[in-house]
Order: sequence, then structure tokens, then C-alpha cells
Amino acid sequence: MTKTPAKPAPKKRKKRAAPTLGPEKTARLFAALAEDRPAPKTELEYHNPYTLVVAVALSAQATDVGVNKATKKLFKVADTPEKMLELGEEGVAEHIKTIGLWRNKAKNVIALSQLLVDEYGGKVPETREALTKLPGVGRKTANVVLNEAFGHETIAVDTHIFRVSNRTGLAPGKTPDEVEAQLERVTPDEFRKGAHHWLILHGRYVCTARKPKCWDCVIADICKFRDKTPDPARKAKTSDLGPKGP
Ligand code: SF4
Repeated sequence: MTKTPAKPAPKKRKKRAAPTLGPEKTARLFAALAEDRPAPKTELEYHNPYTLVVAVALSAQATDVGVNKATKKLFKVADTPEKMLELGEEGVAEHIKTIGLWRNKAKNVIALSQLLVDEYGGKVPETREALTKLPGVGRKTANVVLNEAFGHETIAVDTHIFRVSNRTGLAPGKTPDEVEAQLERVTPDEFRKGAHHWLILHGRYVCTARKPKCWDCVIADICKFRDKTPDPARKAKTSDLGPKGP
């Protein structure tokens, strides 16, 4: 009996990265954002790297304004891991009860403070690997801390950066990790340190989830988003003219 030749295994298609804006437009996009906000910084209030770690960890599923309200008093009594441990889980919980997931967050704040005291002499470590070992600290929080407290060129992809990167075509990706990898690849050197803040603030105040303010956007001419929001003032003016025709 003749053997039927085995069918060749189908070739695996290589996953192609979605096209980005290209170097010239990418540089123009960052230059426009940088000109718009020359000195960007986080809106979370903090006093030192430790209080920044705590503030960022508390900000998951909460607004910066809400976190700032809670940490204002908390950081007055506890701005180091040692003082936080003295305050204890119940004490921390009392201060952060207005923030979502407060029980779990209070537990994490105490656990991360204990680890900082036990392993790092109360200092915040300066590597992503060490930071992500702290309870309640994920890759995003670690990237924010590295960028803000230590000046590293990291980009933490949150919901705002994810949206802006995809809409504009700057760094399209299906997951935050994909977007982060694309941003790492396309961001020009001179904009790497500020990129994180520029993109977050642009997403928070201009390229909002619902009804982005495209008519008031400094990168509208570069952005690839198809459903740009028309200028409401122009729309109103046009309708003032009344119906066309005799
Ligand atoms: S033009 Fe609109 S969609 Fe594009 S970045 Fe600006 S606000 Fe966002």
C-alpha cells in the first residue's frame, strides 16, 4: 500500500505589528504635546518616593482627586514605612475609607511598608523587579514610580494612554503590554521622560473616553481617529442660520 504523503503543516503566519504613525509624525505629535504642557507632572500629591508608591497603589480604580483628599491627612501622620506600621492597618483604613477597595488597599499598604523595612531599610528600591514584588504594586505602579520619583524613561500604560495611543495610531495594541512595547519602540529619545505624563494628561483632559475634544486638540492634524468630534460652536452657528432654501 502506498502511503499518502503527509500534508505539509500550514505555515504559521507571523503576527505583524499594527502600523504606527511613522517617525516624522510621531516626533511632531510629541513636540505638540510638549509645547502644550511644558512641565507635566503627576496630579497625585506625595512627599517622597515612599508616599508616591502608596498614592499610586491607592489610585487603582479611584480618582487622583479622591486619593489626594484621603492622603492629605494620612501622609501628615505617616510619610515613612516605619510610621505607617505604627499607625497599623486599622489606622490606615480609617484614612482611606472614601476610596474604592479600601480594606484590601489598607492591608497592602501595611504589607508593603513591612517589606520595605525588612528588605530595604525603609527605602523604596529603584528597579521594576523589586518594586513589583511589593504587595499591591503591579507593573503600571512600578513604572509610574520609576518615572516620577527616579526619572527613569518608563511609560505606564493606563486607560488614558491606552486610548490615546490607539486612537491616534501612535502605538496601537490590543493590550496595555502591547501598547507599552510599541511606545518603547516609537518614542523619540528627547520625549521619553515626559511621554508618560503628556499622554495621560492629554487623555484625561482632551482625548476623553466619550466625546473627545477633537476641535480643541493640538494633535488633531496628525491623529488617525476617524470619528473626530466636530466643534460644537460651529455646529451651533450653522444651525442658527436656519433651514436652507427659500
Ligand atoms: S483628534 Fe480627537 S481623537 Fe485624536 S487625539 Fe485629538 S482628541 Fe483624541
